[in-house]
Amino acid sequence: MSGWIAVAGLGPGAQALITPEVSEALAAATDVIGYIPYVARVAQRPGLTLHPSDNRVELDRAAHALTLAAQGARVVIVSSGDPGVFAMASALFEALEAGPPEWRALDLRVFPGITAMLAAAARAGAPLGHDFCAINLSDNLKPWPLIERRLRLAAQADFAMAFYNPRSKSRAEGFARTLDILREECGPDRLILFARAVTTPEEQLAITTLGQATPDMADMRTMVIIGSSQTRLIDRPGRPILYTPRHAA
Ligand code: SAH
Repeated sequence: MSGWIAVAGLGPGAQALITPEVSEALAAATDVIGYIPYVARVAQRPGLTLHPSDNRVELDRAAHALTLAAQGARVVIVSSGDPGVFAMASALFEALEAGPPEWRALDLRVFPGITAMLAAAARAGAPLGHDFCAINLSDNLKPWPLIERRLRLAAQADFAMAFYNPRSKSRAEGFARTLDILREECGPDRLILFARAVTTPEEQLAITTLGQATPDMADMRTMVIIGSSQTRLIDRPGRPILYTPRHAA
């Protein structure tokens, strides 16, 4: 049996949001590789070896997957959300590019998943209904001044913005700085959504303004979405609807 390798997105958390194509790949796999909490979402079964690893070893993990597939294994690399959004698909191709030429002949596929910003946006209404951008706020893989430049330019272009990895314990000041920059560029009344652990039993949503937002409203399980100048609320019983109209002002 010849090997293959699939990079698959497990979606934001709920089982119902895993695509059938990803479920089929997992059912056919001999090996599942990924970050510990993502591999924990895959059920054990006979004939399947799980390879959980720490978050900081993406390239080693990708090389491991390619080596196994080259030996005939059917390997699924799992990511949360979508594997192409701040996740393993690019790490796999980086390892492929740097690796032995025979890896390029492998059967390689990327199976998309529902990324966190889309799940969070859907819960709140439609804040990404007009032009938007997505920014990873972690400065692990890029310098902070580049993040700051992108924040300012995107705010000046009046994009709605979706922020991944907003705040970790080791870089708590980055998100405080982000809120300061956004307040300078957008003013205190701009709407902002904090969507934590969306589609899991721990889900929490908060909609507020930049003037009211505090850094501790975000952690590493939170998706932050800031509206454009046109984003607004529809009041109704329970939580209001947050949406951005499809036309520009
Ligand atoms: N590939 C993933 C993103 C990985 S980066 C995707 O497409 O969703 C990890 C970041 O995604 C987290 O820090 C958080 O900002 C966001 N995230 C992932 N799952 C989430 C969820 N269920 N609810 C809210 N944010 C989530």
